[in-house]
Amino acid sequence: MAKIFCVANQKGGVGKTTTTVNLAAGLAKVGQRVLMVDLDPQGNATMGSGVDKRKLQHTVYDVLLESASVAEARVKSERLQEANCSYDILGSNRDLAGAEVELVEVERREKRLKQALAEVGGEYDFILIDCPPALSLLTLNGLCAAHGVIVPMQCEYFALEGLSDLVNTIKQVHANLNKDLEIIGLLRVMFDPRITLQQNVSDQLKAHFGDKVFNTVIPRNVRLAEAPSYGLPGVAFDPSARGSQAFVEFAKEMVDRIETMK
Ligand code: ATP
Ligand code: MG
Repeated sequence: MAKIFCVANQKGGVGKTTTTVNLAAGLAKVGQRVLMVDLDPQGNATMGSGVDKRKLQHTVYDVLLESASVAEARVKSERLQEANCSYDILGSNRDLAGAEVELVEVERREKRLKQALAEVGGEYDFILIDCPPALSLLTLNGLCAAHGVIVPMQCEYFALEGLSDLVNTIKQVHANLNKDLEIIGLLRVMFDPRITLQQNVSDQLKAHFGDKVFNTVIPRNVRLAEAPSYGLPGVAFDPSARGSQAFVEFAKEMVDRIETMK
């Protein structure tokens, strides 16, 4: 059965989508079967995987409202297949913004994604969920479906402040809705070792969270930022870039992590 991970941080622009698509591509590259779920109405992870969000027949919206199954709604990306790091994609677009309102009325509204993913869990090693920058009902669906949360963060002063809200939400979900849920780890992203403040925050993180901080560090790397405009994760777009190599390392670290989870 697949291990399911949410990539979450309610702060915007911290590298959630970059982490999701590059980890998915890195895992595919080392032979893992991966489904990537785009749970953000912005649809960045969908586009960044080479799938046109405007042309999708079904999206995660239909899955949440039970008008399509995951098997009906998932797609593959030709670009990823050409680059030899293919993963399946459950895409999203602006329609998903409506789900937030429509779901309020329905039963088991926070467990919809969990139920839908259970039907395909046997087909994958990893399911990765890209969350929107909010602690919303959509993110709650992600947290209820997951075994673990990966928290990408920049090593900046305010990063630590936002973290306590996220940690509290995860504790509440763990206590009330999903006792499997844990923070798997904090991933330091867009890291620049020349900046002293980043080194200091990184040291604080390690002192505070210990082995919950992943060993792999993702450097600030322009190739990772350029890749989405080509409809590819950096790992597929320029495998030799430092950022891409770091994400392949991170994929291997995740494979090791799930061994210890079993
Ligand atoms: P949102 O909250 O809007 O969903 P996000 O948390 O998903 O944002 P991303 O879209 O992944 O964040 O990243 C924000 C910006 O930073 C993007 O322009 C992305 O290309 C860039 N970026 C992310 N990681 C890196 C990196 N390691 N090096 C350089 N640029 C990066
Ligand atoms: Mg995003």
